[in-house]
Amino acid sequence: MSIKVSQVSKLYNTQKALNSISFSAEKGQIIGFLGPNGAGKSTMMKILTGFIKPNLGEVIVNDVNVIQNPIEAQKSIGYLPEHNPLYKEMYVREYLQFQASIFKIAKSEIETCIEKVGLTLEANKKINQLSKGYQQRVGLAAAILHNPSVLILDEPTTGLDPNQLVEIRALIKELGKDKTVLFSTHIMQEVEAVCDRVIIIKKGELLVDKKLADLKEGNQQIIVVTFDYKIEEQFISRLPNVISYKNNYDNTWYITFESKEDMRPTVFDFAHENGLKILGLNTQNKNLETLFREVTA
Ligand code: ADP
Repeated sequence: MSIKVSQVSKLYNTQKALNSISFSAEKGQIIGFLGPNGAGKSTMMKILTGFIKPNLGEVIVNDVNVIQNPIEAQKSIGYLPEHNPLYKEMYVREYLQFQASIFKIAKSEIETCIEKVGLTLEANKKINQLSKGYQQRVGLAAAILHNPSVLILDEPTTGLDPNQLVEIRALIKELGKDKTVLFSTHIMQEVEAVCDRVIIIKKGELLVDKKLADLKEGNQQIIVVTFDYKIEEQFISRLPNVISYKNNYDNTWYITFESKEDMRPTVFDFAHENGLKILGLNTQNKNLETLFREVTA
Protein backbone atom coordinates (compact mmCIF):
# COMPACT_ATOMS: atom_id res chain seq x y z
CA MET A 1 0.00 0.00 0.00
CA SER A 2 1.53 3.35 -1.03
CA ILE A 3 -0.72 5.67 0.94
CA LYS A 4 -2.64 4.92 4.11
CA VAL A 5 -4.57 7.71 5.79
CA SER A 6 -6.32 6.72 9.03
CA GLN A 7 -8.84 8.87 10.86
CA VAL A 8 -7.12 12.16 10.18
CA SER A 9 -8.65 15.25 11.79
CA LYS A 10 -7.38 18.81 11.57
CA LEU A 11 -8.48 21.89 13.44
CA TYR A 12 -7.36 25.42 12.59
CA ASN A 13 -7.96 27.04 15.98
CA THR A 14 -11.62 26.18 16.46
CA GLN A 15 -12.44 25.51 12.81
CA LYS A 16 -12.59 21.85 11.83
CA ALA A 17 -10.97 21.46 8.39
CA LEU A 18 -10.85 17.64 8.37
CA ASN A 19 -13.01 15.23 10.34
CA SER A 20 -11.69 11.68 10.69
CA ILE A 21 -10.68 11.10 7.05
CA SER A 22 -9.52 7.60 6.08
CA PHE A 23 -8.51 6.19 2.71
CA SER A 24 -5.72 4.23 1.17
CA ALA A 25 -4.19 3.93 -2.28
CA GLU A 26 -2.23 1.32 -4.15
CA LYS A 27 0.66 1.83 -6.51
CA GLY A 28 -0.29 2.80 -10.06
CA GLN A 29 -3.61 4.38 -9.08
CA ILE A 30 -4.59 7.87 -10.18
CA ILE A 31 -7.10 9.32 -7.75
CA GLY A 32 -9.16 12.43 -8.39
CA PHE A 33 -9.65 14.42 -5.19
CA LEU A 34 -12.82 16.48 -5.44
CA GLY A 35 -14.77 18.80 -3.24
CA PRO A 36 -16.17 22.33 -3.19
CA ASN A 37 -13.84 25.17 -2.18
CA GLY A 38 -13.03 24.99 1.49
CA ALA A 39 -13.73 21.24 1.66
CA GLY A 40 -10.29 20.50 3.08
CA LYS A 41 -8.46 19.19 0.00
CA SER A 42 -5.35 21.35 0.33
CA THR A 43 -5.23 20.69 4.06
CA MET A 44 -5.29 16.93 3.42
CA MET A 45 -2.53 17.28 0.84
CA LYS A 46 -0.34 19.36 3.16
CA ILE A 47 -0.76 16.69 5.84
CA LEU A 48 -0.04 13.87 3.38
CA THR A 49 3.19 15.54 2.31
CA GLY A 50 4.31 16.26 5.88
CA PHE A 51 4.09 20.06 5.67
CA ILE A 52 1.54 20.40 8.43
CA LYS A 53 0.50 18.01 11.18
CA PRO A 54 -3.02 16.78 11.90
CA ASN A 55 -4.52 16.97 15.40
CA LEU A 56 -5.49 13.31 15.24
CA GLY A 57 -4.86 10.33 13.00
CA GLU A 58 -2.07 8.61 11.16
CA VAL A 59 -0.57 8.92 7.68
CA ILE A 60 1.73 6.28 6.26
CA VAL A 61 3.39 6.70 2.85
CA ASN A 62 5.46 3.79 1.57
CA ASP A 63 5.68 2.33 5.08
CA VAL A 64 7.01 5.59 6.56
CA ASN A 65 5.00 7.48 9.19
CA VAL A 66 4.68 10.96 7.68
CA ILE A 67 3.77 12.67 10.94
CA GLN A 68 6.68 11.25 12.93
CA ASN A 69 9.21 11.23 10.12
CA PRO A 70 8.29 13.82 7.46
CA ILE A 71 11.75 14.21 5.93
CA GLU A 72 12.14 10.48 5.38
CA ALA A 73 8.61 10.27 3.94
CA GLN A 74 9.21 13.21 1.59
CA LYS A 75 11.96 11.20 -0.12
CA SER A 76 9.26 9.19 -1.86
CA ILE A 77 6.68 11.98 -2.28
CA GLY A 78 6.49 14.55 -5.08
CA TYR A 79 4.33 17.59 -4.33
CA LEU A 80 3.02 20.31 -6.59
CA PRO A 81 1.34 22.81 -4.25
CA GLU A 82 -1.58 24.99 -5.26
CA HIS A 83 -0.48 28.08 -7.25
CA ASN A 84 2.81 26.36 -8.15
CA PRO A 85 5.42 28.44 -6.31
CA LEU A 86 8.41 28.94 -8.65
CA TYR A 87 11.36 31.35 -8.74
CA LYS A 88 10.20 32.94 -11.96
CA GLU A 89 13.34 35.04 -12.54
CA MET A 90 15.34 31.86 -12.94
CA TYR A 91 15.86 29.92 -16.15
CA VAL A 92 14.11 26.54 -16.38
CA ARG A 93 17.26 24.40 -16.28
CA GLU A 94 18.87 26.68 -13.69
CA TYR A 95 15.81 26.37 -11.44
CA LEU A 96 15.79 22.60 -11.70
CA GLN A 97 19.55 22.50 -11.04
CA PHE A 98 18.97 24.64 -7.96
CA GLN A 99 16.23 22.28 -6.73
CA ALA A 100 18.41 19.25 -7.45
CA SER A 101 21.35 20.74 -5.51
CA ILE A 102 19.17 21.40 -2.45
CA PHE A 103 17.89 17.85 -2.44
CA LYS A 104 21.27 16.33 -3.42
CA ILE A 105 19.96 14.81 -6.62
CA ALA A 106 22.29 13.71 -9.42
CA LYS A 107 22.52 16.25 -12.30
CA SER A 108 21.72 13.49 -14.80
CA GLU A 109 18.19 13.32 -13.39
CA ILE A 110 17.54 16.91 -14.46
CA GLU A 111 17.77 16.15 -18.18
CA THR A 112 15.59 13.04 -17.77
CA CYS A 113 12.90 15.11 -16.06
CA ILE A 114 13.12 17.94 -18.59
CA GLU A 115 12.49 15.41 -21.33
CA LYS A 116 9.75 13.59 -19.42
CA VAL A 117 7.64 16.71 -18.96
CA GLY A 118 8.27 18.01 -22.49
CA LEU A 119 10.44 21.03 -21.61
CA THR A 120 13.40 20.30 -23.87
CA LEU A 121 12.80 23.31 -26.13
CA GLU A 122 12.07 25.62 -23.20
CA ALA A 123 14.92 24.61 -20.89
CA ASN A 124 16.99 27.73 -21.61
CA LYS A 125 14.11 30.18 -21.18
CA LYS A 126 13.28 32.23 -18.13
CA ILE A 127 10.32 30.72 -16.23
CA ASN A 128 8.36 33.98 -16.41
CA GLN A 129 8.62 33.89 -20.21
CA LEU A 130 6.71 30.62 -20.32
CA SER A 131 2.96 30.19 -20.69
CA LYS A 132 1.02 28.97 -17.65
CA GLY A 133 0.90 25.45 -19.10
CA TYR A 134 4.68 25.32 -19.46
CA GLN A 135 5.15 26.79 -15.98
CA GLN A 136 3.05 23.89 -14.68
CA ARG A 137 5.43 21.54 -16.46
CA VAL A 138 8.33 23.16 -14.59
CA GLY A 139 6.47 22.58 -11.31
CA LEU A 140 5.84 18.97 -12.29
CA ALA A 141 9.49 18.49 -13.27
CA ALA A 142 10.58 19.85 -9.88
CA ALA A 143 8.10 17.51 -8.17
CA ILE A 144 9.46 14.39 -9.89
CA LEU A 145 13.20 15.22 -9.77
CA HIS A 146 13.83 12.72 -6.97
CA ASN A 147 11.77 10.06 -8.76
CA PRO A 148 9.10 9.78 -6.07
CA SER A 149 6.62 6.90 -6.20
CA VAL A 150 3.79 9.06 -4.82
CA LEU A 151 2.71 12.31 -6.48
CA ILE A 152 0.43 14.83 -4.77
CA LEU A 153 -0.81 17.54 -7.14
CA ASP A 154 -2.96 20.38 -5.82
CA GLU A 155 -5.12 21.72 -8.67
CA PRO A 156 -2.45 21.22 -11.33
CA THR A 157 -4.74 22.24 -14.21
CA THR A 158 -6.40 25.36 -12.78
CA GLY A 159 -6.08 28.35 -15.11
CA LEU A 160 -4.89 26.44 -18.17
CA ASP A 161 -6.35 26.93 -21.65
CA PRO A 162 -8.13 23.97 -23.31
CA ASN A 163 -5.03 22.78 -25.22
CA GLN A 164 -2.79 23.03 -22.18
CA LEU A 165 -5.42 21.15 -20.17
CA VAL A 166 -5.29 18.21 -22.54
CA GLU A 167 -1.48 18.21 -22.54
CA ILE A 168 -1.09 18.37 -18.75
CA ARG A 169 -3.77 15.67 -18.28
CA ALA A 170 -1.90 13.41 -20.69
CA LEU A 171 1.29 14.09 -18.76
CA ILE A 172 -0.35 13.25 -15.42
CA LYS A 173 -1.69 10.04 -16.94
CA GLU A 174 1.76 9.15 -18.26
CA LEU A 175 3.45 9.90 -14.92
CA GLY A 176 0.74 7.90 -13.14
CA LYS A 177 1.68 4.69 -14.93
CA ASP A 178 4.29 3.80 -12.34
CA LYS A 179 3.32 6.13 -9.49
CA THR A 180 0.42 6.66 -7.11
CA VAL A 181 -1.12 10.02 -7.96
CA LEU A 182 -3.58 12.03 -5.90
CA PHE A 183 -4.68 15.22 -7.59
CA SER A 184 -7.32 17.77 -6.81
CA THR A 185 -9.44 19.44 -9.45
CA HIS A 186 -12.79 21.09 -10.04
CA ILE A 187 -13.18 19.64 -13.52
CA MET A 188 -15.28 16.48 -13.56
CA GLN A 189 -14.38 15.52 -17.14
CA GLU A 190 -10.77 15.61 -16.05
CA VAL A 191 -11.40 12.96 -13.44
CA GLU A 192 -13.34 10.88 -15.95
CA ALA A 193 -10.51 11.22 -18.48
CA VAL A 194 -7.55 10.59 -16.19
CA CYS A 195 -8.50 8.82 -12.96
CA ASP A 196 -9.20 5.27 -11.86
CA ARG A 197 -10.84 6.40 -8.70
CA VAL A 198 -12.55 9.39 -7.15
CA ILE A 199 -12.65 10.67 -3.59
CA ILE A 200 -15.13 13.45 -2.77
CA ILE A 201 -14.92 15.44 0.45
CA LYS A 202 -17.09 18.23 1.77
CA LYS A 203 -16.67 20.27 4.94
CA GLY A 204 -13.88 17.95 6.01
CA GLU A 205 -15.96 14.77 5.66
CA LEU A 206 -15.25 12.00 3.17
CA LEU A 207 -18.48 11.45 1.22
CA VAL A 208 -17.50 9.22 -1.70
CA ASP A 209 -14.60 6.88 -2.37
CA LYS A 210 -15.34 4.91 -5.52
CA LYS A 211 -13.61 3.35 -8.48
CA LEU A 212 -14.72 5.10 -11.64
CA ALA A 213 -15.69 1.77 -13.19
CA ASP A 214 -18.08 1.07 -10.27
CA LEU A 215 -19.61 4.48 -10.74
CA LYS A 216 -20.35 3.74 -14.37
CA GLU A 217 -21.71 0.27 -13.70
CA GLY A 218 -24.27 1.34 -11.15
CA ASN A 219 -27.77 -0.07 -11.41
CA GLN A 220 -29.37 3.32 -11.68
CA GLN A 221 -30.26 4.97 -14.95
CA ILE A 222 -31.97 8.21 -15.74
CA ILE A 223 -34.38 8.40 -18.66
CA VAL A 224 -35.38 11.72 -20.09
CA VAL A 225 -38.73 11.52 -21.80
CA THR A 226 -40.73 14.31 -23.45
CA PHE A 227 -44.46 13.84 -24.04
CA ASP A 228 -46.60 15.95 -26.33
CA TYR A 229 -48.55 17.36 -23.40
CA LYS A 230 -48.37 17.64 -19.63
CA ILE A 231 -48.60 14.29 -17.82
CA GLU A 232 -49.78 13.81 -14.25
CA GLU A 233 -47.20 12.67 -11.71
CA GLN A 234 -49.31 9.63 -10.72
CA PHE A 235 -48.93 8.38 -14.24
CA ILE A 236 -45.14 8.35 -14.07
CA SER A 237 -45.15 6.65 -10.69
CA ARG A 238 -46.93 3.64 -12.24
CA LEU A 239 -43.88 2.75 -14.33
CA PRO A 240 -41.96 -0.30 -13.03
CA ASN A 241 -38.66 0.05 -11.09
CA VAL A 242 -39.00 3.81 -10.68
CA ILE A 243 -36.95 5.32 -7.84
CA SER A 244 -37.63 9.00 -8.39
CA TYR A 245 -38.84 11.45 -10.99
CA LYS A 246 -38.97 15.17 -11.54
CA ASN A 247 -39.98 17.63 -14.19
CA ASN A 248 -39.46 21.33 -14.59
CA TYR A 249 -43.10 22.31 -15.07
CA ASP A 250 -43.02 21.26 -18.71
CA ASN A 251 -43.63 18.05 -20.65
CA THR A 252 -40.17 16.58 -20.02
CA TRP A 253 -39.66 14.10 -17.19
CA TYR A 254 -36.36 12.93 -15.68
CA ILE A 255 -37.09 9.45 -14.37
CA THR A 256 -34.55 7.45 -12.34
CA PHE A 257 -34.92 3.68 -12.55
CA GLU A 258 -33.27 0.90 -10.60
CA SER A 259 -32.51 -1.55 -13.39
CA LYS A 260 -29.60 -3.03 -15.30
CA GLU A 261 -31.71 -3.24 -18.46
CA ASP A 262 -32.32 -0.29 -20.73
CA MET A 263 -35.72 1.00 -19.64
CA ARG A 264 -36.49 2.95 -22.81
CA PRO A 265 -38.57 0.16 -24.45
CA THR A 266 -40.63 -0.13 -21.24
CA VAL A 267 -41.28 3.62 -21.22
CA PHE A 268 -42.19 3.49 -24.90
CA ASP A 269 -44.64 0.56 -24.45
CA PHE A 270 -46.12 2.25 -21.37
CA ALA A 271 -46.76 5.43 -23.33
CA HIS A 272 -48.24 3.52 -26.25
CA GLU A 273 -50.59 1.48 -24.01
CA ASN A 274 -51.82 4.67 -22.40
CA GLY A 275 -52.30 6.57 -25.61
CA LEU A 276 -49.46 9.03 -24.88
CA LYS A 277 -47.26 10.45 -27.61
CA ILE A 278 -43.52 10.57 -27.05
CA LEU A 279 -41.55 13.39 -28.67
CA GLY A 280 -38.16 12.53 -27.16
CA LEU A 281 -36.67 9.56 -25.31
CA ASN A 282 -33.05 9.41 -24.09
CA THR A 283 -30.94 7.80 -21.42
CA GLN A 284 -28.74 10.02 -19.32
CA ASN A 285 -25.77 8.32 -17.70
CA LYS A 286 -25.36 8.92 -14.04
CA ASN A 287 -22.01 10.55 -14.47
CA LEU A 288 -19.58 12.07 -12.06
CA GLU A 289 -21.07 15.51 -12.51
CA THR A 290 -24.49 14.26 -11.33
CA LEU A 291 -22.93 12.37 -8.44
CA PHE A 292 -20.88 15.39 -7.38
CA ARG A 293 -23.92 17.64 -7.39
CA GLU A 294 -26.00 15.06 -5.52
CA VAL A 295 -23.49 14.56 -2.72
CA THR A 296 -22.19 18.09 -2.33
CA ALA A 297 -25.41 20.06 -2.83
P1 ADP B 1 -9.86 23.28 -0.18
O1 ADP B 1 -8.45 22.99 -0.59
O2 ADP B 1 -10.78 22.10 -0.36
O3 ADP B 1 -10.42 24.52 -0.84
P2 ADP B 1 -8.69 24.00 2.39
O4 ADP B 1 -7.99 22.79 2.88
O5 ADP B 1 -7.86 25.08 1.77
O6 ADP B 1 -9.88 23.55 1.40
O7 ADP B 1 -9.51 24.64 3.57
C1 ADP B 1 -10.36 23.91 4.45
C2 ADP B 1 -10.92 24.85 5.51
O8 ADP B 1 -9.90 25.24 6.42
C3 ADP B 1 -11.49 26.15 4.94
O9 ADP B 1 -12.62 26.49 5.66
C4 ADP B 1 -10.36 27.13 5.13
O10 ADP B 1 -10.86 28.44 5.29
C5 ADP B 1 -9.70 26.64 6.41
N1 ADP B 1 -8.26 26.92 6.44
C6 ADP B 1 -7.34 26.51 5.53
N2 ADP B 1 -6.11 26.90 5.89
C7 ADP B 1 -6.24 27.60 7.04
C8 ADP B 1 -5.33 28.27 7.93
N3 ADP B 1 -4.01 28.28 7.69
N4 ADP B 1 -5.85 28.87 9.01
C9 ADP B 1 -7.17 28.86 9.29
N5 ADP B 1 -8.09 28.24 8.50
C10 ADP B 1 -7.63 27.62 7.40
